[in-house]
Parts: sequence; structure tokens; C-alpha cells
Amino acid sequence: RAKSAGGNRFELADPEADARAITRHGLTTALPAALDRGEFFIEYQPLVHLGDGSVRGAEALVRWLHPQHGVLGPDRFIPLAEHTGLIVPLGRWVLEQSVRQARSWRERNADAGPFRINVNLSPCQLTHPGLVQDTVDILERAGVEPDALCLEVTESALIGADDDLLKPLRRLAEMGVDIALDDFGTGYSNLANLRRLPVSILKLDRSFTQSMQQFPADPVDLKIVEGIVSLAHSLDLAVTVEGVETGAQAEQLRILGCDTAQGWYYARPGPPERLHELALVDATG
Ligand code: C2E
Ligand code: MG
Ligand code: MG
Ligand code: MG
Repeated sequence: RAKSAGGNRFELADPEADARAITRHGLTTALPAALDRGEFFIEYQPLVHLGDGSVRGAEALVRWLHPQHGVLGPDRFIPLAEHTGLIVPLGRWVLEQSVRQARSWRERNADAGPFRINVNLSPCQLTHPGLVQDTVDILERAGVEPDALCLEVTESALIGADDDLLKPLRRLAEMGVDIALDDFGTGYSNLANLRRLPVSILKLDRSFTQSMQQFPADPVDLKIVEGIVSLAHSLDLAVTVEGVETGAQAEQLRILGCDTAQGWYYARPGPPERLHELALVDATG
């Protein structure tokens, strides 16, 4: 793509931006076939209880094994899938796979306590009229109770949400599906607004965890997290923290009252077999 700069002179606008745009275009057009060809796969990252260190569940994170570009992370293709609408069938596929995976974990590990699967939802999936029925069908087909599922919706997707947008989430919550507010603390939402949302879990954004890196941590950051945790608990919301990379962060966040943690300190996202291993370790002590 070249920009005409008057006359018959052509000038490259920005070669790198152009290359990115070409890749973006290529990826966008390749997306539908990729779903048919089974090029997507899911990695799972454990959710660990900060009190006793047990694995309570996992978040499903989708990846694309692209024949030319190798493994692509969701940040590379989810926005494209959202733009083209492919996110609806792709999201349904992720949900189906993840729920089936959750059943296999629950079966193999019955005495380790209830195991939950967290699945991310795009704003486009929220507004798609099939969301509730698709979710019900998927749970039924897999023979999985709704309480094994947690849907993660970003705080920014729900900012200013009207009742129409919240209705499907409310229905799902009434069925027993947990709703988590993802990346919490980045969206400048009105805290009082939380009461209105059918959420039961706050996922504190990684930026808060990062500020616990230094020792001693910034006292203002500590106060902010402490405040969020106490507000969340007073509203009966559990607090999960993302991006825990060190034991010191985990300890600090545990002291601040956070309930569950997720991050490289415990495990990177990985294939489902990894979860079997982790969960089995816990079940046997
Ligand atoms: P998210 O839901 O906030 O997921 C957490 C991201 O943090 C994941 O990135 C995860 O790999 C990464 N992470 C986990 N622990 C650590 C850590 O200790 N340190 C650091 N630096 N990073 C950590 P990932 O897998 O690249 O996913 C990025 C985003 O893509 C997700 O953010 C989520 O919003 C979106 N996404 C992933 N899978 C799906 C999906 O199936 N559907 C939709 N709609 N979005 C998805
Ligand atoms: Mg998430
Ligand atoms: Mg998150
Ligand atoms: Mg995040």
C-alpha cells in the first residue's frame, strides 16, 4: 500500500505499519478457514487458592497455530475475530472445549474439590442473542454443572452497560455460572456500579500485582489494593489476582486478603495434561 504524494511520485507511508497491515489483512482472511482446519488450541493456566495453595481451577487461553507464522497469542487475532464476527463461533468453540476439559478434570480428580474453568467472553459475544442458549447447550452436552463455569468479562465491556446488555449475564448468573470482572482496575468504572453487575469475582489487573514487585511495596498501592479487597468482600465478591510472578507478590497479596491467584509463579499457561499433574499433586498432598 503506497500513499500517493501528488503527481506520479509514490511514497511508502511507513513500511513497518504497511507490513503490519498486510499481516493483519492476511490473518483476518485466514481466520474462518483456520477454525475449520482446527488450527486453534487452548492453553490452561491454573488458578491457585492463596490460603492453601490448592489448584481451584484454570483459565482457558486460546492460541492459533498458524501454518506460516507459528503460534500466535490472542492479542494478535482476537481483535480481528471481533471485527469480522468470527469471535462468535470461535468463542463457542473455546467454551465447548473448555467445558469438556473441565469435566475430565472433575472426573479424574473428584476428591480435590470442585474444579472450575474460566473462559473469556468478548463484548461481541455478550451482545450475541445466542449466548445463554449456547452456554446451556454446551454445559448439557458435556454433562457439566453450571457452577463449574466462570465467564470472564472485562470491566471496560461493562462500563455503562444498560440492562439489555446485563440481562444475559444475569440469566447465566441465576443458573449458577460465575461471572468475573476481568482486568479490574483499568477501566475507571464507578465502584458503586459494582452492585448493579451480576458478578461474583473481581480479577484484579496485573498492573496491581506488578506494583507489589518491590519490597517494601508502594504504601499507596497497598492501600488501594486493600481498599478494593475490602470493598469486594463487603459486596460478597471474591478477589482473584492476575500476573503473580514471584513468591513475594503472592505473599503480599495473600496478606492483603486476595482469595485466588494466577501467574507464572505458579504455572505458565500450558496443555491440559499439565493441569492433571498439578491437580493430582494437590489431591495426594
Ligand atoms: P486475560 O484474560 O487478562 O488473561 C491473562 C493474560 O495474562 C494471558 O495472556 C496470560 O497468559 C497472561 N499471564 C498470565 N500470568 C502471567 C504472569 O505472571 N505475567 C505476565 N506478564 N502475564 C501473565 P494471553 O494468553 O496472551 O491472553 C491475552 C488476552 O487475550 C486475555 O487477557 C484475554 O482478554 C484474551 N483472550 C484469551 N483467550 C481468549 C478467548 O478464548 N476469548 C476471548 N474473547 N478472549 C481471549
Ligand atoms: Mg481473562
Ligand atoms: Mg485478566
Ligand atoms: Mg489482563
